[in-house]
Amino acid sequence: MRVLFALALGFWASAAPIVYVLDLWVERDGAFQGTATVTFPCPGKTDLVFRLYPNHFGPFLSLTEAQVNGARASWESLDPTVAVVIVPNECFETTTVTLIFRGELPHVAHGYGIFARQARTMTLAQFYPVLAPWREGWIVYPTFSFGDNLVAEAADYVLTVRVPEGWLPVGSGSEEELSPTLWRLTGTNLREMGLVLVKGYAEKRLSHPLGVELRVLFPPELRPAGERALEIAAEALALFSSFFGPYPYPDLDMVFVPLWGAAGVEYPRLILIGEDYAGDPGRDFFAEIVVHELAHQWWYGEVGTDQVAEPWLDEGLATYAAGLYFEAKGKLAQKVQEWEAHWARAQALFPQGSVGSALWEFAVGPQARRSYSGYVYSGAALFLHEARKILGDAAFFAILRRFCAEKRGGLAQAARLLALFEEVGGPALGELYAKYFRR
Ligand SMILES: [Zn+2]
Repeated sequence: MRVLFALALGFWASAAPIVYVLDLWVERDGAFQGTATVTFPCPGKTDLVFRLYPNHFGPFLSLTEAQVNGARASWESLDPTVAVVIVPNECFETTTVTLIFRGELPHVAHGYGIFARQARTMTLAQFYPVLAPWREGWIVYPTFSFGDNLVAEAADYVLTVRVPEGWLPVGSGSEEELSPTLWRLTGTNLREMGLVLVKGYAEKRLSHPLGVELRVLFPPELRPAGERALEIAAEALALFSSFFGPYPYPDLDMVFVPLWGAAGVEYPRLILIGEDYAGDPGRDFFAEIVVHELAHQWWYGEVGTDQVAEPWLDEGLATYAAGLYFEAKGKLAQKVQEWEAHWARAQALFPQGSVGSALWEFAVGPQARRSYSGYVYSGAALFLHEARKILGDAAFFAILRRFCAEKRGGLAQAARLLALFEEVGGPALGELYAKYFRR
């Protein structure tokens, strides 16, 4: 399923950073238009692949003009979510592509509802053309109605966004107010620019002793859940920093929004929490949403993963991280029991699956689809837990910190983490791999 256009090899190791300059104008009804200027290294290429992810659910994002290094360019669509920009002249060592785009947010929720206009929120997941990663070829997968479809390089971003009067933008960058309706969001080493607009929300902030600014935004009636989310995030941030290494960004925003079929969604420096779960913030599941999405700041944000080919890697680490939070509360055994039950159910539903299955393997039918989280979240967390028992705490967490430090800012492959485990654990790890990653 991986489309590889074999061209230049191996220059990404020394690549200059990718920079996105985005201008966006959002209308009250959810219509929007904008310009994406993307600068990146691309010697020798003739085609440049951009993803228009919102088009998985309908014609919600389109290009109206393209330029490469100032010259007008054409593009072809292989699929509604893929635009291949044809380089008109020559692709320079550092190339700048300008894409003018327009789109509209549907008023009914598709998928998880992360690209939708609601009464008090506009969720704008992947509202701009995203450059596909290049590894001996463009990494381009089909899109799916479940799981996370984005596979992207880390990049620096400047977003200038004009919002309708009364709306507030919250995104993956530091938000700077230029006027009440004009904001600039800037951030470095971001996997993507997450963005949500809110109206009539309240907020609360907390300066964490580890130097991270935490903020939560919520509809006023959900204040208890907002305050609880802030406490949970502060506690888990300290815990995860000790296990994985320092929190990778200067801040974190948490925003309560309507979601469907998902309890939370992660973006760099931004977490969306499903407001359906805010009614009883004392429940363990509420804490689990917050800490799971927080853990993705390390596993997906800082250390990028191929979320389509190897969804277990970031989801398993985030699920296990939530287990570490509950372990600190004396509730790890309960979590392990839950994971075992979910994993067993997944195996009964879809015996051909495994923890290592790619997203497309779960798309073959309803039984396979229903087994997705049992394998990719629960089974993967169980695998990590058993690996930890074999390796011992000191080696297990040292390997996670090493993996994080090695792959920071890049796109990691699961094979590297498994190799690090095997170096220390030897043949016992081989047996564990056979149990969870069987084919
Ligand atoms: Zn997750």
